[in-house]
Amino acid sequence: MTSGEVGRFAPSPTGRLHLGNLRSALLGWLSARAVGGRFLLRIEDLDPDRSKQAHVDGIFEDLEFLGLDWDGEVLFQSKRAEVYRAALEQLSRAGRVYPCTCSRAEVLRAASAPHAGEEGPLYPGTCRDGAEPKAGRRPSLRFRVAPGVVRLVDEVCGPYEQDVERSVGDFLVQRADGVASYQLAVVVDDAASGVTRVVRGDDLLSSTPRQLQLLDALGLPAPRYAHVPLLLQEDGKRLAKRDGAMTAPGLRARGFTAQHIIGLLAKWSGLGDGGPISARELAAGFLLDKVRREPTVVHEAELLAPGR
Ligand code: GLU
Ligand code: ZN
Repeated sequence: MTSGEVGRFAPSPTGRLHLGNLRSALLGWLSARAVGGRFLLRIEDLDPDRSKQAHVDGIFEDLEFLGLDWDGEVLFQSKRAEVYRAALEQLSRAGRVYPCTCSRAEVLRAASAPHAGEEGPLYPGTCRDGAEPKAGRRPSLRFRVAPGVVRLVDEVCGPYEQDVERSVGDFLVQRADGVASYQLAVVVDDAASGVTRVVRGDDLLSSTPRQLQLLDALGLPAPRYAHVPLLLQEDGKRLAKRDGAMTAPGLRARGFTAQHIIGLLAKWSGLGDGGPISARELAAGFLLDKVRREPTVVHEAELLAPGR
């Protein structure tokens, strides 16, 4: 069975993948493979200071261990500066980007407290009508957002809407050091790779309206989105990358096989009873509709030794 479905996993190599990242990888893999679609791997290593080769190696190792295979060449964002530059030029020709010389501290100060929401401070549009030249400061580039509410229907979270102008404001598409922003790179790459469905953690749901605006401004088609709820630690915090207990090698050291880990990831997603199973076996009959919509608490006892 083959279909036109194209999924992807796009981790940032800033630490070892934790079980929440692996769960997103598994669900993305399942949603593509269940219908005979393609599954791509992209390394989001835009930030040269935070990206490490050891973490790239760790990503390959974990995915291979779990049997989550990908098609074709791995895409590295660090090698795609030219592609992002071309997209920025297109936006610039359309009058949709402008230079900004505000420092982070200035944006924070200008954004009055009630507006400083979940998305960080609302950019108040200081440089919208021309940036004040500042000696020795290279400008970043901001996207001129469109007014109005952006609506989408997420395949897991359901209807979602955001007024980007009022909640985020004009956002960065290129940093002052010339590196493209996550928001720009992700839409350019998903479109270039022909991705039809983005499956990722729901911490990125609130970035999606920004990404839809960018896609629209670039004349690119939008994929479907499926944001999966986060895995939480017992204290209610998100799983953190630095906690070695929550990684595939951490579990392997405690005797978990790939099937044990896949079984746990599946159970936390509302798929199955937690018994050992391979990713291939789970793909038969997989439907995103079956994925649990509430955040799941991972109990430390589940990670001490393999259950069955
Ligand atoms: N690189 C992002 C992360 O690791 C994910 C980007 C995406 O899936 O759109 O959190
Ligand atoms: Zn500015």
